[in-house]
Amino acid sequence: MKSLAARLAATYLLVVFLALAAVDFLVLGSIEAFTLRQREIATFTSTNIAVNQVEPFYRDRQPGIGETALIQIARAHAGQSGSRVLVIDGLGRVVADSQWSGGLVGRTLTHPEVARALAGQSASGQRYLEGAGRVLYTVAPVLENKVPVGAVFLSTSLEDIYAGLTDIARTMLIMSAIALLVAALVGLGVARTITGPVTRLTRAVERMGRGELEQRVRVHGRDEVATLSRTFNEMAERLHEEDVRRREFLADVAHELQTPVASIRAMAEPLAAGRGPGPNGGTREYDIKTYKELAHDMEAQSERLGRLVGDLLELARLESPKVSLTMEDIDLTGLAAGLVRELKPQAQAAGVDLGTGRLDPVRVTGDGLRLEQVLVNLVTNGLKYAGAGRRVVVEVRRRGSEAVLTVADNGPGIPSEHVGHIFERFYRVDRSRSRRGGGTGLGLAIVKRVVELHGGTVSVRSKEGEGTTFEVVLPAR
Ligand code: ADP
Repeated sequence: MKSLAARLAATYLLVVFLALAAVDFLVLGSIEAFTLRQREIATFTSTNIAVNQVEPFYRDRQPGIGETALIQIARAHAGQSGSRVLVIDGLGRVVADSQWSGGLVGRTLTHPEVARALAGQSASGQRYLEGAGRVLYTVAPVLENKVPVGAVFLSTSLEDIYAGLTDIARTMLIMSAIALLVAALVGLGVARTITGPVTRLTRAVERMGRGELEQRVRVHGRDEVATLSRTFNEMAERLHEEDVRRREFLADVAHELQTPVASIRAMAEPLAAGRGPGPNGGTREYDIKTYKELAHDMEAQSERLGRLVGDLLELARLESPKVSLTMEDIDLTGLAAGLVRELKPQAQAAGVDLGTGRLDPVRVTGDGLRLEQVLVNLVTNGLKYAGAGRRVVVEVRRRGSEAVLTVADNGPGIPSEHVGHIFERFYRVDRSRSRRGGGTGLGLAIVKRVVELHGGTVSVRSKEGEGTTFEVVLPAR
């Protein structure tokens, strides 16, 4: 038996079968015991009545006289009780038998019940007689001055009781069979409702294994299978989202690479030919100056391509589950101050006032080069987007057990509908502006990933027209 449903149904059926069999057995047993007991009581009553009837004849009985009267009493009593009635004398000899043929008269009975009755005690016993079936013997003593002088013996057939019991047993068997059939159907139904979702889940998992990630299963109730189904759905949802993101990312990467590659191609062709589009739709030969200009532009595009590939590689490394950071004791304050100094000339060239604000001495455990990358990305963004005549301020503070690094500018800010997205890969508020500034759209994604790998968080506050503040929170040493 392979399937869980069949095994469940079979177990259920076995339990129901055993329960029914036990109930049938016990009920039949107690009905049998009860009816036999009732019959025994009734027969004893009947025996005692017969004893009372024969007693006076015993007292007055002369040997050989009175047998006829005893036989009549025995016959009359047998007619009423439906039993065979024997009257026995003190030696165990039959003196009267209700059977017309005279029966056992004159024979001495050796039944243990007779012996007990002649010793003064009523007794009963069951026998199986060939031809007559099951019978009940009841024997009660006839007393004279409390001394047993004889006994009355009743033999009653029990076949009517056993016929009734057989009827009851047959009815119970039929009822049990019907109950078992119903139980089988219900058991199979219940087993299906349990294993149905498991089967559906298995199929969904199989399809998912083949790459069909849109698999979802229906969830009913709150049992273990429902919990499993819900967990599966959540997992499928995440995998699907991840798959969609991966595809989008790939498309984005291709798109980002296409632009510089296309422009390099557009420049390389005329460069190779030595001539290109000239005034009035004609062509013109390139002189050395034009060659230089084109080569310079190509170099700029290649640089851009290099930066893009570099950032992509870095992001891939950071997102790999096997990423390894060189964790050291880092003086975050010194690192920030040093970097501001290094970037000053670049800031001056852009006409931006770059400086430091509050600098608490704070140390963190981290990868120095990568934390530096975080700062470079945030500060160069400030320089790029704040614009000439603005200010970019770097601060390091200690807040309890945290090191808080902020890079704030008083530039144009970020429109609120974009703020929630800027940490996404390739997300830019203004694509051409980002490109002009040499941006790859990956800077903040790298920042976020590095900070998270350090167990920290990064957030942004920005108001249009007022400026933008990035806050990096890291666990301090
Ligand atoms: P990019 O290479 O385009 O700079 P980033 O991931 O570093 O990519 O930044 C994503 C976008 O967030 C930028 O294109 C820009 O629109 C916005 N942004 C980042 N920093 C600032 C800032 N200091 N002020 C205004 N906008 C910013």
